[in-house]
Amino acid sequence: MNISDSELIAASLEKEGLVKMDMIDADVVVFNTCSVRKHAEDRAVARLREAKAHKRKRGIVIAAGCLSQHIGTRLLEDKICDIAVGPYESPNIAQIIREFLKDNSRNLFISSEKDDFAGRLHPSLIMRPEREHWHRFVTITHGCENFCTYCIVPHVRGPLISFNSEEIIDFIKQLPRSGVFEVTLLGQNVNQFGQDNGDISFCQLLERVSTIPGIEKINFMTSHPKDFNPDIIRQIANNNTIARSIHLPLQSGSDEILKRMNRGYNVKHYIELIDSIRQAGDIAITTDLIVGFPGETEEQHKESMALIKEIGYDDAYMYAYSPREGTVSAKYDMQLSKETKNRRLTELITMQREITVSRLDNLIGKKEKIVVERVSRKNDNEVSGKTFSNRQAVLAGSRDDIGKIFTIEYEKVNGATLYGKKV
Ligand code: SF4
Repeated sequence: MNISDSELIAASLEKEGLVKMDMIDADVVVFNTCSVRKHAEDRAVARLREAKAHKRKRGIVIAAGCLSQHIGTRLLEDKICDIAVGPYESPNIAQIIREFLKDNSRNLFISSEKDDFAGRLHPSLIMRPEREHWHRFVTITHGCENFCTYCIVPHVRGPLISFNSEEIIDFIKQLPRSGVFEVTLLGQNVNQFGQDNGDISFCQLLERVSTIPGIEKINFMTSHPKDFNPDIIRQIANNNTIARSIHLPLQSGSDEILKRMNRGYNVKHYIELIDSIRQAGDIAITTDLIVGFPGETEEQHKESMALIKEIGYDDAYMYAYSPREGTVSAKYDMQLSKETKNRRLTELITMQREITVSRLDNLIGKKEKIVVERVSRKNDNEVSGKTFSNRQAVLAGSRDDIGKIFTIEYEKVNGATLYGKKV
């Protein structure tokens, strides 16, 4: 989501005639920040301080994104940025700078009123993406109103706003003209698309995007087990332009903890979804996991470990619980010690690594399509990319292969890296 917002910020600045350059020489420095974890906030504050020290005499330092929404007033009071801009205003940064330069009268832009929300699907934002010229993130919803008790997102990104499906379709239809054939539909909970404005469902949106000429691979993130449904699984199974990979955050394998996280599903429901996905064929399943939620007992941690082992995820993003100021769970009793959280996290990572490798081993001899993304860091005669099940793989190739689709046959696993050959 932040990469996508940064692209909007860059488009806004470039339209105004600004040119990208090193921070030392720049007149304007923008940091697009994240608040999801304390560590990310601390790093952003340190980088802002460093930039502000460089720019004491000349230049503007802007804190954009969720950190500004969260503590923008404090950042300005502490004089570690000149302007604080929340996520609602990301596409308007150039205009904000222009006004600031006129009279310096306003430097805080953190409204979360729906009327102040700047749209993300304007045709002028269709520029050739710098990083991967064939791929484009397309935001379909902004914000979230699920209020999981540990999560800062609803507090900083505001309520769910689904974008109009016709505008999304029109936007994506224009992308192949600039060489884009892969899109990632983005939202905090994409499965809630349309629930706030009575538009078509997420599943219907997926189907419509899959019929757009020139779009060959569609990814989406993130799903939520309480809103994910079998229609989406059927859509993936029957449609070869949709990536065969589902990211379905479990967070905890204990019903008691899920309840206190306000996740809105239980283990039984989650397992039923996994069973339906597995029945639909070879679809990679990844997840997010939090260990050391306040009050998590050793027994509940073991319950989670057992469930994670039973499901056998292809991969997982694993974190120790990080209390975020302003969230409900930050005020819960029984916050666990750093040692306990880190020990549980190490146990989980060790187990998941073994599962990941064994899942990869099972793929040897199988074939699937891959989009080549880059030349391998270790070997100039090898390239790596993401397959249509969003697994990273390495194969023989050259720079000319970047941004092209091949079929790969898996030959071996080295460490946690999958190797194959073009067929
Ligand atoms: S669904 Fe829960 S975890 Fe995800 S963004 Fe919304 S509140 Fe946060």
